[in-house]
Amino acid sequence: MVVTRFAPSPTGFLHIGGLRTALYNYLWARRNGGKFKLRIEDTDQSRNSAEATKAILEAFDWVGMNYDGDAVYQSDRFELYKQYIQQLLDEDKAYYCYMTKEELDALREEQMARKERPRYDGRYRDFKGTPPAGVDPVVRIKAPLDGEIVFEDGIKGTITIKADEVDDFIIARSDGTPTYNFVVAIDDALMGMTDVIRGDDHLYNTPKQIIVYEALGFKLPRFYHVPMILGEGGKKLSKRDGAADVMDYKRMGYLPEALLNFLVRLGWSHGDQEIFSMEEMLEHFDPCDINASASQYNPDKLLWLNSHYIKNSSNDRLAKLLEDFGLYLLSHDKREILLDIFKERCKTLKEMAEQIKEVLEAPESYDSKAIKKAMKGDAVQILDSFVKKLENAETLHLPTDYHKVLENFVKEQEIGFGKIGMPLRVALIGRLGGPDLSDIMSIIGRYETAGRIKNLLN
Ligand code: GLU
Repeated sequence: MVVTRFAPSPTGFLHIGGLRTALYNYLWARRNGGKFKLRIEDTDQSRNSAEATKAILEAFDWVGMNYDGDAVYQSDRFELYKQYIQQLLDEDKAYYCYMTKEELDALREEQMARKERPRYDGRYRDFKGTPPAGVDPVVRIKAPLDGEIVFEDGIKGTITIKADEVDDFIIARSDGTPTYNFVVAIDDALMGMTDVIRGDDHLYNTPKQIIVYEALGFKLPRFYHVPMILGEGGKKLSKRDGAADVMDYKRMGYLPEALLNFLVRLGWSHGDQEIFSMEEMLEHFDPCDINASASQYNPDKLLWLNSHYIKNSSNDRLAKLLEDFGLYLLSHDKREILLDIFKERCKTLKEMAEQIKEVLEAPESYDSKAIKKAMKGDAVQILDSFVKKLENAETLHLPTDYHKVLENFVKEQEIGFGKIGMPLRVALIGRLGGPDLSDIMSIIGRYETAGRIKNLLN
């Protein structure tokens, strides 16, 4: 059975890189009928916060990614880690090291002066004497002294690290707390991971974790190290490129399925297919097909995907989602026409809510540039005549009815369409641009249309 996990350190919000990693693990487990687990790596109490954990769970909930069993918190497992530290000490696979910080600093300086890479020199590895007084020791693991550590990465191929590149690293600090690479290996093994998909910033943690697996006789999972997401111009992804917090995408009016579709394609492809429903992701996703090179964040593509999913959402769902943006349409009599029109035009829910409100509510102010452009010549008189035309018109209901009135009006007045179109737009929504005039008028009705024109003229 395939077992995967997402293992965030709750130091801040869940960012899109993290969500992508989680998604890849989720898809791979679900595709194989396996298990997807969540582990909160909260051993560093000074940097972790309960709010950050809450934010991660909230983001999971929003995108609909469910995990199996309860979330595992590393902070609950210190006793367990201690037992393994003791086991390695008892088996002589780990040892106490009494080097002080000053001694370590001095060693590092000497090594740097010789242009060597700083590393612990193993001086307490086989120490049998009396320990120096007054030093709280750390525990170091015995790393192999020669040979190579080799593993097959599902994305990057064979990774070979010479043994002398990994020193006897610390597995327990002098206060007894276990270190990161030690606990990750133990948890992954005990939680039954078969596949570990994570960011390639962890690539050089893997040899250390393999040393722990081997010392404890645990079976190795398959590793996949995913290249990072780059921002504009190939630089590190920054706040300027996109939101830092996954939940910001919700606030900006993205649909969760658009974000997931966007993320699955950032670094993975299946032919040239761009649109993936969750079913399709589950049918095709394989971590071996993740690109070995970094992918680039493209906000236009995210917008494009979002508009695709908005267009294909039911009006019921959109009406419910728009409530988060202060728009209450569930029992509005023009709900269907409003949503039908605006789901074709808008790229985000936020934009949709704003544009719909703009139509439903009479403008409180007018764009000065639009006024200047639209209200010249005989614009006032044209608007006046148009009000009369509206008042005398027969059935006015559908957009096509209003379209006919407009058509007749420009013919009778012998004017170009812009002569009525521009001032009418300013009267109705306070600016140029916006949806079709016939659509707007049919939504608000002839009396509201006439009222807004009069407001402008007064
Ligand atoms: N806690 C690590 C992080 O947030 C992930 C560790 C892992 O996936 O092995 O980067």
